[in-house]
Amino acid sequence: MLLLGFYQLLFHGRIFNSTTIQGLNMIDTETAIIGMGPAGLSAALYTARAGIKTTVIGCSPKIAGDYTIDNYFGFPGSITGRELIEKGMEQVKALQTMFVDERVLTVHHGENGGYEIKTENQVIKTCSLILATGVSRTKPKISSLENFEGKGVSYCVSCDGFFYRNRKVIVIGESLFAANQAVELLQFTRNISIYTQGKEPDISQSFLEKLQEAGVPIIKKKITSLEGDGVVNNVKLDDGSSVETEGVFIAFGEASAADFALSLGLATSGSFITIDRDQKTSIPGIFAAGDCTGGFLQIAVAVGEGATAAKSAIQHVRNICR
Ligand SMILES: Cc1cc2nc3c(=O)[nH]c(=O)nc-3n(C[C@H](O)[C@H](O)[C@H](O)COP(=O)(O)OP(=O)(O)OC[C@H]3O[C@@H](n4cnc5c(N)ncnc54)[C@H](O)[C@@H]3O)c2cc1C
Repeated sequence: MLLLGFYQLLFHGRIFNSTTIQGLNMIDTETAIIGMGPAGLSAALYTARAGIKTTVIGCSPKIAGDYTIDNYFGFPGSITGRELIEKGMEQVKALQTMFVDERVLTVHHGENGGYEIKTENQVIKTCSLILATGVSRTKPKISSLENFEGKGVSYCVSCDGFFYRNRKVIVIGESLFAANQAVELLQFTRNISIYTQGKEPDISQSFLEKLQEAGVPIIKKKITSLEGDGVVNNVKLDDGSSVETEGVFIAFGEASAADFALSLGLATSGSFITIDRDQKTSIPGIFAAGDCTGGFLQIAVAVGEGATAAKSAIQHVRNICR
């Protein structure tokens, strides 16, 4: 049964149109910012003040702990990362901004232009997008992983899932991101297992139920190496046993800038997003700022890039979206 509702969300004085379809909240926005660190919050400050309907999506950044920041302009007696982020958040929340405190699972091109962001409970449709997701996650330590990249090892279900129709595949990861990658793979194959590399799964009840219903096992063993003659056909586990497979999807940790770049088709340099002086990426309407663009990984740089990305996003919204 299709559950459909329509309502308007009032966030800090601004109306966001929203529908609910089968439990997923649909949000329409002009600029979506992924990341609540210095780059994302700085960008939001500018877009919201320019009257652009802004939605910020993300979780607390790593710096929001008890780390002392001694080199940020205006705080001679030092400030903790937590205090700095709290102050930035307070400043942005006073403006007309919507905050979605959830992990982003996928970002795709929208069917009618723009971009579509999915979290566990929301679908956010946006005309412009600022990626401010910090540095990308690290790869799992699996020997010969790099040798099989593009030869049975993939980092992107929406790019490569099609090539694994009715194949036996493994998803490596412990989080909601891995669970979502497995769920997306179900449209191509039912023969999927998730390996958590020895970690406790950090997957919500609703996703656990989806996986259980589809018969996708979650195995807490560690994969130590990949084997195959040209393409991967076997994984070795730390208990000495081996498991046959025809494909391996890496979805370790949280979805990162590198994952979003792959699914959107953005130009990258290694795991960093390529940008120009205006923080424009290779795709119109998508901008990137902060650590996810590489360079000097510092708060001052992230804040500056966030402001520039916002300026470009504001221009895009005014010229293209309205
Ligand atoms: C321990 C530590 C100490 C540091 N000390 C200093 C210092 O003293 N001075 C200094 O200048 N710099 C310091 N840095 C570096 C500084 O923290 C970074 O350069 C800065 O935070 C980069 O900002 P950012 O907004 O680009 O990324 P981040 O601050 O990393 O923020 C990224 C945001 O994206 C979100 N995100 C990522 N993926 C997802 C997803 N899939 N779904 C939802 N949200 C997502 C995160 O939750 C976070 O909110 C330190 C860093 C660390 C880790």
